[in-house]
Amino acid sequence: MLNNRTRIKDILSSDKTNYTCTVMGWVRSFRNNQFIALNDGSTNSNIQIVAPLGLLDEATLKRITTGACIKATGNIVPSLGKGQKIDLELRSLEIFGDCDGEAYPLQLKNRPSLEYLRDIAHLRFRTNTFGAVFRVRHALAFAVHKFFHDRGFVYMHTPIITASDAEGAGEMFRVTTLPLDGSAPRNEDGSINFKEDFFGRSTNLTVSGQLEGELAAMAFSDIYTFGPTFRAENSNTTRHLAEFWMIEPEMAFYDLEDNMNLAEAFIKYLIAFVMENNREDLEFLAQRLADEEKQKPQTERGDMGLIEKLEFVLNNEFQRLTYTEAIDILRESSHNKKKKFQYLIEGWGADLQSEHERYLVEKHFKKPVILTNYPKEIKAFYMRQNDDGKTVAAMDILAPGIGEIVGGSQREERYDKLVQRMHEMHIPAEELDWYLDTRRYGACPHAGFGLGFERMVQFVTGMGNIRDVIAFPRYPKSAAF
Ligand code: ATP
Ligand code: MG
Repeated sequence: MLNNRTRIKDILSSDKTNYTCTVMGWVRSFRNNQFIALNDGSTNSNIQIVAPLGLLDEATLKRITTGACIKATGNIVPSLGKGQKIDLELRSLEIFGDCDGEAYPLQLKNRPSLEYLRDIAHLRFRTNTFGAVFRVRHALAFAVHKFFHDRGFVYMHTPIITASDAEGAGEMFRVTTLPLDGSAPRNEDGSINFKEDFFGRSTNLTVSGQLEGELAAMAFSDIYTFGPTFRAENSNTTRHLAEFWMIEPEMAFYDLEDNMNLAEAFIKYLIAFVMENNREDLEFLAQRLADEEKQKPQTERGDMGLIEKLEFVLNNEFQRLTYTEAIDILRESSHNKKKKFQYLIEGWGADLQSEHERYLVEKHFKKPVILTNYPKEIKAFYMRQNDDGKTVAAMDILAPGIGEIVGGSQREERYDKLVQRMHEMHIPAEELDWYLDTRRYGACPHAGFGLGFERMVQFVTGMGNIRDVIAFPRYPKSAAF
């Protein structure tokens, strides 16, 4: 048996001393041929290993370099030095993997930039920033399942390869085994004959599991999905990825208000979970953000620290208002009048750009906002039509620093209205006959939403770029690792 180690986090979080244990991990630093700072990823804190003079021979000392992987056994004793409470007094050491200090990209003395680390994403987990980010990401994923499980929701795995375009918005990655060299089978009109393709039809990577989720909700009442989602949109922003993870709950017997209540409770639960279970990582990330903010001009700095912001969101109700009310606020805003928006708000019906969303959240209300009842023209076909004939029962949640974090709606459960809307929006009803069956066989009022997981991780960690909260980001012209 090899793995008789103790996790560094467990050693450091206890006051116990005078016992023997074994640790394994990667060397962060080695000084005076005596003090090794060792990290195993369980916490950002390193354990200090003190090698008694003369214990290690010259050759071994040379191999203890930053990045090397070692096993160390010794006694846990109260530390004589400052900065840590305990040391591991070394008795025996084994080197698992050498690390050439000259070549090791994380050898830098200065703090490496996030951009530089993105290019070495395969090694960046070993930095404190990414250690904290990915432990928080894990905690959030765990909390997602716990939240829904505790409420009796059933976790559904919806397909990743799909023949339907849920939003009818295009922007999908095609999945095919047909040759690319021009020898693909053709129809008489020259178009590619997908009947000859692997699935006997044209298929894509999913942009949302919602439509399939609705089918399951019509049997289990409450379900959620949590899986990868793909969008071939050419958006080089700090909030868009081509491959991201989405959580999509779908609930029978929910109206728009029930839906908003669940989404708000869900977001608050996730925040509270991390505040309780990842305090040390959050404090590290808060400090990182504060240092980063200091580099910015005064006017661009946030007025709250990370932990303050999370506490504020936890302790305040989200501001709820209709799209129409939001348009009035935006149109009358000094920002609009002074033409500070790139896209000026002229009238009802305009789609909100992220500058408008951020104005509402960061300048006007200074807290998360839930916008409801959007014009039907700018929303998907499945949203429930309101009696005014103009709007649909949509709800988007906008978060400070992020913009849209949740998009959801009450769904149109009335067969005739749904089919009519599909017709108006040129959505081929024959292809979605299976979806329409839910409206034929025991339909009920129901609702759901999608939370972008990486945007939630961004919000909680304070990381400015979405590419820094997923292990190996995919975005236009980049699919490394
Ligand atoms: P946006 O306007 O920001 O592009 P959207 O309206 O396209 O968002 P939805 O289709 O409603 O978003 O998707 C639900 C949620 O998924 C969004 O609220 C957001 O949190 C997340 N999301 C959408 N697109 C992306 C993306 N490309 N990368 C990461 N997360 C995304
Ligand atoms: Mg989008």
